[in-house]
Amino acid sequence: MIASMRFGSNLNALANCYGYAGLSSQTLMYKHTLWPLIAPFIPEERKQRCESWLQGQRDIGVTVASGVSASRLQYPKHLRYCPLCVLEQIDEFGEAYWQRLHQIPGINVCSKHECSLNIYTSDNLQRHQHEFFALSATACSTIKPAAIQAFHRDLNDYVITLLNLEVVKNPSYEQWSAYYQSLSAQNGLNRGQQVKHKEIESLVTNQFAPDWLKSLGLAVNCEETNWTRSIFRKHRKSFSFLEHYIINQSLMPCSWDVEGTLNEVARYNKVRSVKPQQLAGAPPKSMYQKYRQDWRRIVKVKGAKQARSANGATYAWLYRHDKAWLLSINSDYRAMNTPIKQKVNWCLRDKVYAKRITKIIDAADIDIQSPQRTKTWLLTHFSNKPSLEKWLPKLPITNKLLQKYAETTYEYQIRRITRSLLYGDPKKVRQLWFLMRKSGLSKERLTPIARQFIQLLLERSIVQGPSTSIEENHNNADKN
Ligand SMILES: [Zn+2]
Repeated sequence: MIASMRFGSNLNALANCYGYAGLSSQTLMYKHTLWPLIAPFIPEERKQRCESWLQGQRDIGVTVASGVSASRLQYPKHLRYCPLCVLEQIDEFGEAYWQRLHQIPGINVCSKHECSLNIYTSDNLQRHQHEFFALSATACSTIKPAAIQAFHRDLNDYVITLLNLEVVKNPSYEQWSAYYQSLSAQNGLNRGQQVKHKEIESLVTNQFAPDWLKSLGLAVNCEETNWTRSIFRKHRKSFSFLEHYIINQSLMPCSWDVEGTLNEVARYNKVRSVKPQQLAGAPPKSMYQKYRQDWRRIVKVKGAKQARSANGATYAWLYRHDKAWLLSINSDYRAMNTPIKQKVNWCLRDKVYAKRITKIIDAADIDIQSPQRTKTWLLTHFSNKPSLEKWLPKLPITNKLLQKYAETTYEYQIRRITRSLLYGDPKKVRQLWFLMRKSGLSKERLTPIARQFIQLLLERSIVQGPSTSIEENHNNADKN
């Protein structure tokens, strides 16, 4: 068996070895390989064929049939890891493992620990295809901090959503073609039948750094064959998860909801081609072409119903002479323009957000300097904060975590007092008046519980004042 950083093979045989743990080849494929990044974007029949190969013995066939070998997207050549994740894994499980999240093209940083991923350089995957490379703590000597931006978090959320996506029936090439036609039209990026490719290119390069795109083999240029153009033409092969992400993220006003889009695309009617009726005495072919062209342009933008009221004459002519074609195209655009109620997996979404909140709280817990961890502060870590706030009633776990872990005023006051004691000038900070000032607290603003905390500090002589009673100290301060 050849080790593979992407999908592996012989998964049935491997699953049999884990029979006692109840691991199926399907679970191995979707929970432990990068297959979930590829699977949703290839036609259904091909996906099923590839999956049966992965369960069997044909890794190479999958690379070709899934389009990965012909894809312009560059996969990392070496294994990668986050040194801090490795230390955590050793702490938790006694040994480290290769995280699939860190082997994904485009992911160059660990968003959890805010550091760059290290490359495992001592391996030579080409020469030692059968060898197992264990990850150990010795690999964790270098930690390179990285500034995490909203872009990193969005991409991270996107790939995590894909890795956890429920298996759905995949759209066909025709459905993807129709989706992208509609996407450009909805965004006002069409001029008649033409797509405004240059505008799309500048939207993409405004959103994503050209160097990052180039490093992935997805550079944007003005050539007719560039991928940002071909994705808006008739699809003849699959586009990678990152190509779909880059275009949709550039054109959408907020974070792209891949799950909703996949459901939407799968509902598009397949584009049918209907030949004009060639009846004796019928108008010349050029008339059909002209009216069809006009109607296509209008119906794409306005949808069937509105196009009919706005362009009654064209509608009437086509209805009289070219009814089958008219009804066919209208049914396509009726389906496309009726707002589709997207089926959102709230349960999964809730789990993803809850996990993220837990990570934010974990990171904040060890940072005594952080600002008050209110619910609003916790939510500022999400790029889609306004929508998330709106969805909270549908996200019970996330909502509960936010309520439970949001820092109250008294907790924050006690943290500020502790912070001053730990980091303030040791000669001054043990004086009550100085401690209060250093912590930004006043007698009036002190909550009853924080007051009790200071009283305890006075009684144990950790802090000194003229009296060991906080009340008397404050009364004296008032008199002076
Ligand atoms: Zn990490």
